[in-house]
Amino acid sequence: MAPVKNALIIGGGIGGPVAAMALRKAGIESTVYEAYDDTADGVGAMLTVAPNGLDALRIIGADKSVQAIGLPMKDLNMMDGKGRTMGAFRALAGLPPSRSVWRSDLHRALRDVATAQGVRIEYGKRLVRVDERPDGVVAFFADGSTADGNVLVGADGIHSTVRSLIDPQAPGPSTVPLLNFGAVADYSVPGAASDAVYFVFGRRAFFGYWLQPDGTTAWYANVPHHARMTAAEARRTPPSEWLRRLQEIYADDVPGRDLAGHTRADRLSAFGTNAIMPSVPHWYRDRMVLVGDSAHAPSPSSGQGASQAMESAVQLARCLRDIPDLGSAFAAYEGLRRGRVERIAARAARTNDSKSYGPVAKTMMRLMMPLATKTFLTAEKTLGPEQRYRIDWDAPVTGETPVPVPNRRT
Ligand SMILES: Cc1cc2nc3c(=O)[nH]c(=O)nc-3n(C[C@H](O)[C@H](O)[C@H](O)COP(=O)(O)OP(=O)(O)OC[C@H]3O[C@@H](n4cnc5c(N)ncnc54)[C@H](O)[C@@H]3O)c2cc1C
Repeated sequence: MAPVKNALIIGGGIGGPVAAMALRKAGIESTVYEAYDDTADGVGAMLTVAPNGLDALRIIGADKSVQAIGLPMKDLNMMDGKGRTMGAFRALAGLPPSRSVWRSDLHRALRDVATAQGVRIEYGKRLVRVDERPDGVVAFFADGSTADGNVLVGADGIHSTVRSLIDPQAPGPSTVPLLNFGAVADYSVPGAASDAVYFVFGRRAFFGYWLQPDGTTAWYANVPHHARMTAAEARRTPPSEWLRRLQEIYADDVPGRDLAGHTRADRLSAFGTNAIMPSVPHWYRDRMVLVGDSAHAPSPSSGQGASQAMESAVQLARCLRDIPDLGSAFAAYEGLRRGRVERIAARAARTNDSKSYGPVAKTMMRLMMPLATKTFLTAEKTLGPEQRYRIDWDAPVTGETPVPVPNRRT
């Protein structure tokens, strides 16, 4: 089979532009096709880019742009709703701190760096179908246009079309039973550090917050909710009504009560319930392959969704650079990635459980956490393997055996 010269990348979110830059560095030209007409400016809440994600961006020359727009988060403090510290994780020695970024800023920064590097991004191109030929693929878009390439990369997110083209039996996303909200309060939490994020296991629901340089506090809420609710459904309820409910839910929590009390309805966004991907059995078939949330979408509780998409994009480019046979290149890519992303997803699933703990479990957690974070639950032990991971771009990929699909809980 001829080595890959060009790629069609479906999805211009986070993984798509990173894949395009990494492929370019590997000598493979690509065009990114994004379904939406606009660039999703202003859409989405905060997400984390971890040190391992920043390092993947360093390889393609995009780390500085992301560091410039993100707030460094050196410490993670776990609190109860009375303002008592349950445990703390300090940033790992020798690593740059994780960055909290607005998803829309991250998206814009990556798009700008990719465009400056010569990557072409076409908007309003929703992939609907693919024809595979012995020497390439033809992508068909909803506007009637088509595009040809040697391979097609599905960076089209958790509701991926490419995933079901690869495997019509592929599982879809599962619901995490937590409603998500993101907000900015015109309030600066007294005594909070400017470079720390706080996770609060409140009386009725979990919330997180961090100070912003302008004196406001960014915060998000995870409220237990058992039925699936899409973002569109959540937006049918006026923000003022959601705010009223959040004010009730956090009325007994420090500083939840003040955060909800100092938030204007126009600075609250409701995102509905979170979705995560169960284990996806087939990441590739023939000339199509998945990258990012389409293959592995851990819960936002992992703090690793965007970083894992970045790592996968860079590793895929290395494999296509070094292994001429496409099937072997995709198998090597899966071998490099599956075990890692599934371990991270499993940790995030445990974190999700703790956000819905009842009062007894919360009391146990408050009592055990200080000892746990000094002994078996240290930042180094839990986060070290995730955040210290580095991709050696220059090392040739020789091929690895794909790991078996583990049975992962959602
Ligand atoms: C609008 C939006 C807001 C988000 N907000 C947050 C947030 O606040 N916090 C958080 O932790 N994570 C958020 N995420 C998810 C986060 O971006 C991803 O988990 C992560 O960055 C992995 O990125 P990805 O590129 O794999 O997927 P995504 O970032 O989801 O990007 C997928 C892209 O593919 C496009 N696409 C989908 N189907 C097609 C198709 N058929 N043809 C062409 N293009 C297609 C989508 O429009 C999207 O731009 C958001 C995602 C989106 C799309």
